[in-house]
Amino acid sequence: MELLPETFQRLRGQVAVVTGASRGIGRAVALALAIEGAKVAVNYASSSAAADAVVAEIVAAGGEAMALAADVSKTDQVDLLTSKVMEKWGRIDILVNNAGITRDTLLLRMKLEDWQAVIDLNLTGVFLCAKAVSKIMLKQRRGRIINIASVAGQMGNPGQANYSAAKAGVIGFTKTVAKELSSRGITVNAVAPGFITTDMTKDVKSDEILKYIPLGRYGEPEEVAGMVKFLAADAAAAYITGQVFNVDGGMVMA
Ligand code: NAP
Repeated sequence: MELLPETFQRLRGQVAVVTGASRGIGRAVALALAIEGAKVAVNYASSSAAADAVVAEIVAAGGEAMALAADVSKTDQVDLLTSKVMEKWGRIDILVNNAGITRDTLLLRMKLEDWQAVIDLNLTGVFLCAKAVSKIMLKQRRGRIINIASVAGQMGNPGQANYSAAKAGVIGFTKTVAKELSSRGITVNAVAPGFITTDMTKDVKSDEILKYIPLGRYGEPEEVAGMVKFLAADAAAAYITGQVFNVDGGMVMA
């Protein structure tokens, strides 16, 4: 990666927290925000070497980043995460709620643990991070919260009752919080990816799925990151809040 020349960096001086940034979409988002000059907190759950590699890539290009372990489905760990960022950089301008898991199986086989684990991270984690960071953003009177939802939350997907319920929840949450925070200079939007090439989808790719993607291919993490970067940039997306943006090759057309 290469940082943009300083005069072109749209996020220079801003601080971003990206949850689940050790790989996949989160990694691509962390790099994309760093290229624009943001200081990036690279959160992860257990892949410390991968998170360190993301940080090393940003630092080698002349940017600033730090890796922070935290299970964002846990209140105390989220509070620790935000306080470490505040200690080091003193502000948080951008929160990207990206961390997510799947525990796919059909409803009749789905155990309560499968349901709960996905709801705890993919929905409650978004609530916990948004709540902790919005306290800081309210004092700053500015901020950008970007939640990674999914087409599964819009159109459903067999085997993903837990996941699609969580992602539909994220979309409702995004709209409500956008209304609550709008008068304080904080925007809240969601990005709904389709099938993106990451560890999460490596076992589910098939020719059958491609039939449902008008553009006829899977997406790349960088293509989702491009939308996140647009929503994070000050001037470009200042008048956009409470919206869901699909990056899905045309799977969902409203
Ligand atoms: P991924 O490659 O599996 O990466 C998941 C990331 O989440 C990793 O960095 C992982 O950290 C982190 N994570 C897992 N549990 C965590 C926890 N409890 N606390 C903090 N971080 C945790 O997934 P992805 O495909 O990039 O997906 C990223 C987001 O996009 C998810 O919200 C997913 O639902 C959404 N999405 C993905 C697709 C797709 O096709 N890939 C489509 C629609 C939506 P460790 O490495 O430490 O485990």
